[in-house]
Amino acid sequence: MKKIVVLTGAGISAESGISTFRDAGGLWEQHDIMEVASIDGWHKNQALVLDFYNQRRRQLLEVQPNAGHFALVALEKKYDVHIITQNVDDLHEQAGSKNVLHLHGELRKARSCKDETLIYNWDQDITSEDKCEQGSQLRPHIVWFGEMVPMMEKAALETMTADILLIIGTSLQVYPAASLMNFAPEDTPIYYIDPNPEIISNDDFFHIIAEKATIGVPMVVEKLLQTV
Ligand code: NAD
Repeated sequence: MKKIVVLTGAGISAESGISTFRDAGGLWEQHDIMEVASIDGWHKNQALVLDFYNQRRRQLLEVQPNAGHFALVALEKKYDVHIITQNVDDLHEQAGSKNVLHLHGELRKARSCKDETLIYNWDQDITSEDKCEQGSQLRPHIVWFGEMVPMMEKAALETMTADILLIIGTSLQVYPAASLMNFAPEDTPIYYIDPNPEIISNDDFFHIIAEKATIGVPMVVEKLLQTV
């Protein structure tokens, strides 16, 4: 079975109703990125950061996966599919994808500020009253700007053995995630699905599908299923 690695970003969840960060009307127009999504912001104003992620979590509980997420599940019929997502939502899992690696954390989890191995499933708001079993404050299980990306090495290793790479709905501006495609073996076919693609390449192996995820992903998946 050929191995497909899929790198997804905020764009795949946009049509489910979750705002991206950088698009017009996106979250960064309403919030200062360094105030709400950085480790410095957390140290400065925990209440503000908790409130930002509490709102995101409440919104996530009201939305559903879309045709883009579901198409990737169908791909598993004929391929060994590994999803590496920058998203903190769990819409890939809700759709039924089996292998999902979260590079930037998970909204429906909370973790201890003192011991990062203490991670809890968490669907309510996180408040200043919520502590881990060692008595330290709980924080969102999110990788913030200014923090290490612990899953990066695993993601790079997955990408190094890809036969095909799909990149969906990402502005490729957040590092190190954006550098992942450089780990794919030379001449690996890459399909980049995004209505506003960042890269223009003349390479025969690099295919740009300038479509929204609900159109572009099923299109590419159908083509890949037919060629096995
Ligand atoms: P981004 O906001 O920087 O870029 C979004 C990309 O999605 C853009 O390239 C845009 O053209 C594309 N897009 C917009 N609508 C689309 C659609 N319908 N179909 C396909 N693509 C579409 O997001 P990013 O590149 O993922 O990186 C930013 C960071 O934002 C990540 O670290 C991620 O953790 C975080 N984020 C996550 C979520 C989520 O979990 N759903 C939401 C917002 C931001």
